[in-house]
Amino acid sequence: MTHQKPAGLPDKIQLFIDGEFVDAQDGATFDVIEPVSNEVYITAASAGKADVDLAVAAAKRAFDEGPWPKMLPRERSRILHRVADIVESRDEQLALLESWDSGLPITQAKGQARRAAENFRFFADLIVAEHDNVTKVPGRQINYVNRKPKGVAGLITPWNVPFMQESWKLAPAIATGNTVVLKPASYTPLSAALWPEIFREAGVPDGVFNLILGSGGVAGDALVKHPDVPLISFTGDSSTGAMISTNAAPLLKGLSLELGGKSPSIVFADADLEEALDATVFSVFSLNGERCTAGSRVLVERSIYDDFVARYAERAKNIVIGLPSDPATEVGALVHPSHFEKVMSYVELGKGEGRLVAGGGRPEGFPEGNYVAPTVFADVRPDARIFQEEIFGPVVAITPFDTDEEALELANDTKYGLAAYVWTSNLKRAHNFANGIESGMVWLNSNNVRDLRTPFGGVKASGLGREGGYRSVDFYTTAQSIQITLNEAHSPRFGAGGK
Ligand code: NAD
Repeated sequence: MTHQKPAGLPDKIQLFIDGEFVDAQDGATFDVIEPVSNEVYITAASAGKADVDLAVAAAKRAFDEGPWPKMLPRERSRILHRVADIVESRDEQLALLESWDSGLPITQAKGQARRAAENFRFFADLIVAEHDNVTKVPGRQINYVNRKPKGVAGLITPWNVPFMQESWKLAPAIATGNTVVLKPASYTPLSAALWPEIFREAGVPDGVFNLILGSGGVAGDALVKHPDVPLISFTGDSSTGAMISTNAAPLLKGLSLELGGKSPSIVFADADLEEALDATVFSVFSLNGERCTAGSRVLVERSIYDDFVARYAERAKNIVIGLPSDPATEVGALVHPSHFEKVMSYVELGKGEGRLVAGGGRPEGFPEGNYVAPTVFADVRPDARIFQEEIFGPVVAITPFDTDEEALELANDTKYGLAAYVWTSNLKRAHNFANGIESGMVWLNSNNVRDLRTPFGGVKASGLGREGGYRSVDFYTTAQSIQITLNEAHSPRFGAGGK
């Protein structure tokens, strides 16, 4: 297989504001590279503050004056189902472009394209099924919840599985009647540039969806600080999330922050070890290890430790590395040379912090591009940086434990708290252990398989707030509480002189 540009690449990537593809006001652009050759293959418009102002103004106009927020849920739902149909019908092409731009293996990119369609279908269904509480004090008062969209939602997304992550925010934001300005990551703008045509074809009115591209510190920052954007949904690094939180504070914006992780997979001796092996290997090496919920620390009970480590290393060595476009590829190229450098620096660091049992650098036969061999360090102590810090690549730290208490202590011994995976056949232990873990999500005897109705998010440095199912509806709407008296008003008669 040769490394070839996919068909159907646009000439350049533009912003999309008020239904029009436009360049930046000042004509600024940035170069986009693909991760196998690291050559520039396209340029994208780089939005400045003036462009963000235009995008927000268009979204605000569409919200204040356009039909979208006032449509019946069924009408919006039909349009969202059309979005899902279009995404599904183009999953091959979408996956090709995503894989080219990000280095994700094509089969995994295709799975993510389908998940993106499913996000739209799910919220299309949810908004027509959605209902709120009415409460009543008999003979006195009725209260009902009047749910309203909030306005212009600012959506800021990272470069890992970009199209799917964008859909995760776009679908609930738009479904609930908001208008949006999306700011995708600058490493991976290609698949984001497909949304305008998809929305247009599905019948989303102009101004409802606006796309700005460019640097986080300029375009993202202007969106976060814009007074006409009352809510920001952000997914990315924990330090960026903290900065956004500070910048949004003076305007008291609604914030949802989905941040980094260093999630543990805990394997007890009584687990189904074959299943545990499959899942713990997949957890850290799928999506090139560029996965927020990766089980990047594997904690293994000492009685099975040596055998498990040996089998784990064997699997890691056998992982198929290849061109992202090759259906046989299991691990492709990392997104960008600067991310490659970061991951490689952790690989070098790990050689002094653990026992290298697989990988440890560039894979053989890949002298160029952002390729890192699946790398396994065993005997990693909890104070090691490779145990504590998010690497966000195909690198795993394995650590033994002797007791349940020690396993829990190790599991909780990081600043992060996104996901955890527990492998045991002891029912009581599984539930008690899950309860003790400081993480937003726990999978018992499962890899990361998530029903879209369930809450998604982290604790500690992994995030703030929950999205998923009704929690997304809650985030993107105001639940206005309306009280009606069924009787006299019964107000104390101030100023009536006791009469
Ligand atoms: P990042 O924080 O560098 O960037 C994320 C987005 O924020 C980009 O669009 C970027 O341009 C923008 N940005 C950067 N600085 C900004 C600023 N000052 N104001 C506004 N916007 C700004 O993260 P990344 O490197 O693109 O993504 C990887 C990180 O994302 C990892 O830490 C990963 O764990 C995390 N992540 C979390 C989840 C989750 O759901 N918890 C999911 C995927 C990725």
